[in-house]
Amino acid sequence: MTECHGYAAKSADSPLEPFRFERRDVGDEDVRLDIAYCGICHSDVHMARNEWSSTPTTYPLVPGHEIAGRVSQVGKKVRKFKVGDLAGVGCLVDSCRRCPNCRRGLEQFCHAPATFTYNSMGKDGKPTYGGYSSAMVVDEAFALKIAAGLPLERVAPLLCAGITTYSPLKRHGVAKGSRVGVLGLGGLGHMAVKIAVAMGAEVTVLSGSKSKAPDAKRLGAHEFALTSDPAACQRLARRLDLIVDTVSAQHDLDVILNMLDVEGTLALVGASPKPLEFSAFSLIGGRRRLAGSLIGGLPETQEMLDFCAERKVLADVETIGVRDINAAYERLLKGDVRYRFSIDLKTLQP
Ligand SMILES: [Zn+2]
Ligand SMILES: [Zn+2]
Repeated sequence: MTECHGYAAKSADSPLEPFRFERRDVGDEDVRLDIAYCGICHSDVHMARNEWSSTPTTYPLVPGHEIAGRVSQVGKKVRKFKVGDLAGVGCLVDSCRRCPNCRRGLEQFCHAPATFTYNSMGKDGKPTYGGYSSAMVVDEAFALKIAAGLPLERVAPLLCAGITTYSPLKRHGVAKGSRVGVLGLGGLGHMAVKIAVAMGAEVTVLSGSKSKAPDAKRLGAHEFALTSDPAACQRLARRLDLIVDTVSAQHDLDVILNMLDVEGTLALVGASPKPLEFSAFSLIGGRRRLAGSLIGGLPETQEMLDFCAERKVLADVETIGVRDINAAYERLLKGDVRYRFSIDLKTLQP
């Protein structure tokens, strides 16, 4: 067994606290990753507090699926990694690898279904534990290569926030000159802006908070529009090709759909727990499309990491120690982080 220590939630209403646990031995196709940094994703908070009825939380829960570290042990059949390599793990740690979606590199939609990095059941019948911990043991097929020479605390959030926004931008054909809107400037939104800019798009940030305007420009956006200002929204009518909607609360889609040009697409990546409403006219009056996107498969996640490494696209982070995790959750819920917390796992006491 691989002895690990980390931080876990023991119930929906208790703070995260130190937790010792075991992971499987390093198998022939596994790598052991000593975790350097793990980003804090909004999903971690929802899951720690058992807020998603579709996926009830099993406790204790070790959250974290934005994991970056260094390979410290490899199984004898491992080909992709050697000891000392940098590696990352995102939201997935396994899948059936045989179903039509796995064969297409869409492991996130595995029929089996996929094994998620935490709050899932591993092939060994034991619960999976996430990256707020000292080490991971993962099949090499689900570990991603990280280029050397980048600050790992800023790479870690790419494993969820990066791929979640890269995937719809890529899928909907964003290229030089594409007119892209990003709704919501938080952890996901700030990555959407940086990646869309790196793809050559003209980017407009759509936000309900005026205070985000200077940051939008600093992150590379060309325009900023306040969604609570009807005149600003009207000026954007039929002006955008794609909008990536990162808002995870209920919001009005009609005003956003109206900003799309003919055959433009609104891609949802935020998961509002309450239903979203829109008028049919907002779609049919422009042959517009409403789409969704969920993280990305393994090949696309590697492609995103390589793209971001080449163009030096990294998350803006506030690095914290493990003792600050509970305070960080409260600040995250208030939107008080620019734009991702990254946990320094060196601060874990063995
Ligand atoms: Zn996430
Ligand atoms: Zn599958």
